[in-house]
Amino acid sequence: MARKRPLVAGNWKMNGLGASLAELKALKQRLEKTPVPEAEIMVCPPATLLAQARWALTGTDILLGAQDCHPLPSGAHTGDLSAEMLADAGASAVIVGHSERRSDHGETDALVNAKGKAAFRAGLTAIICVGETEKQRGDGETLDIIRHQLAGSVPKEARGSNTVIAYEPVWAIGTGRTPSLDDILRTHAHLRRRAGDIALLYGGSVKSKNAREIMALAEVDGVLVGGASLDAAEFWAIYTAGQAAAGA
Ligand code: PEP
Repeated sequence: MARKRPLVAGNWKMNGLGASLAELKALKQRLEKTPVPEAEIMVCPPATLLAQARWALTGTDILLGAQDCHPLPSGAHTGDLSAEMLADAGASAVIVGHSERRSDHGETDALVNAKGKAAFRAGLTAIICVGETEKQRGDGETLDIIRHQLAGSVPKEARGSNTVIAYEPVWAIGTGRTPSLDDILRTHAHLRRRAGDIALLYGGSVKSKNAREIMALAEVDGVLVGGASLDAAEFWAIYTAGQAAAGA
């Protein structure tokens, strides 16, 4: 069952200085001029910009998300940020288990699961990422890998009200390559059987030129956008493609 309003979420990754808040202000201005009631929009800047982004977005419906959290609420964990801290800074959601965290920091399904629970504890929506590598895809293991990642990474307390699952094929992230629409359709149908009413995003090289056809697919409830979310005009075009897909 598709979500009524597609969610278009932007992951800025390790990009963005104070000057980048201009992109948020540009989004805010566009939204003030042209409301888009048929789709939801979220920006996940680096944690250093969360508090400023919260003020920049005051009075808008643009949601604010963070990119990672520690499983514990506080303690001796130098350099880490708890879900409670992110909520306090203005986030309403946090991405966990992004493939870059899994590969750069060796994050396991069990750790992602603990981070998801931390998000729930702090009242944040957990955006839990899963996806196969190129080799796994080549070996025909995509659906098995996803089944395994879902079983390990998604806490049993996950519901449509506190969780979003993002299917992000690792080989499609930042490469300009995407699975065929049929492949996305098949993978999301597989995800839906396990995810119940949890919203399902597709992520991996989403741009304004492919966003509408992807969001029009059954069981795709929105997109998680990396590189293309850094530019307000391009991200806006993806967001309005969500609106068009909702009416498609
Ligand atoms: C991502 O990092 O979540 C992502 C989807 O990146 P990109 O859109 O740049 O492929």
